[in-house]
Amino acid sequence: MSATPLLQLRDLRVAYGAIEAVKGISLELAHGELVSLIGANGAGKTTTLNAIAGTLGTAGGELLYEGKGIEKLPAHLRLRRGLALVPEGRGIFTRLTVEENLRMGAYCRRDHDAVEADLERVFTMLPRVKERLQQVAGTLSGGEQQMVAIGRALLSRPRLLLLDEPSMGLAPLVVEKIFEVIRSVAAEGVTILLVEQNANLALEFSQRAYVMESGRITLAGSGAELLADPKVRAAYLGE
Ligand code: ATP
Repeated sequence: MSATPLLQLRDLRVAYGAIEAVKGISLELAHGELVSLIGANGAGKTTTLNAIAGTLGTAGGELLYEGKGIEKLPAHLRLRRGLALVPEGRGIFTRLTVEENLRMGAYCRRDHDAVEADLERVFTMLPRVKERLQQVAGTLSGGEQQMVAIGRALLSRPRLLLLDEPSMGLAPLVVEKIFEVIRSVAAEGVTILLVEQNANLALEFSQRAYVMESGRITLAGSGAELLADPKVRAAYLGE
């Protein structure tokens, strides 16, 4: 295991015009860690993930991946280096088939044999997706679409997977299935940064977590520590 964190944010700031949504946050992920970012609506979690993935520019601070600054690197080159985002709302191409959606994830790869092998790996992990390869993705259930979105990201061979609200709008049983999939991705050694509104679930599931409020990180600790923290319990666990 390398001592350099896979991802480091140092005093990172992100703005929409004059509005600063992320006001100088610092966090890091070691190789192989599963870390979550929790917080209320509008805290800046999605903005943070988009800045890491490169779909949003930064307004200040540092964004280091494998110890190197990537602030100026376009999103597609970050993807090629192993940084993949499963966006809020899943970002499925609704008119394309499941298979076409999955293959989109590999569009920047040239190692075609390895792509086929990875497709097989994704099918093993997501048997439900394999059953529906030729179905138009827009007709899938929400849970199936979330699985396709995760499968698509896996086809880019990510080293760091950024997951934005994978449980959103899904029934508890479906959420359980999605989290089983995330667990098996983590077990393969993929580092994961998970944004979740469902704080209870995220904290039980993650090794470490950060709490974000109004563009700042206000608390950090292991999942168990934060679950026991009275401030977290009062603000995010409905106590
Ligand atoms: P949610 O769970 O509701 O998505 P979040 O923690 O992910 O919340 P963000 O979506 O990152 O929060 O939003 C952070 C802040 O930035 C909010 O005040 C939001 O209104 C603002 N914001 C987000 N997107 C834009 C935009 N495109 N233009 C202007 N302001 C924006």
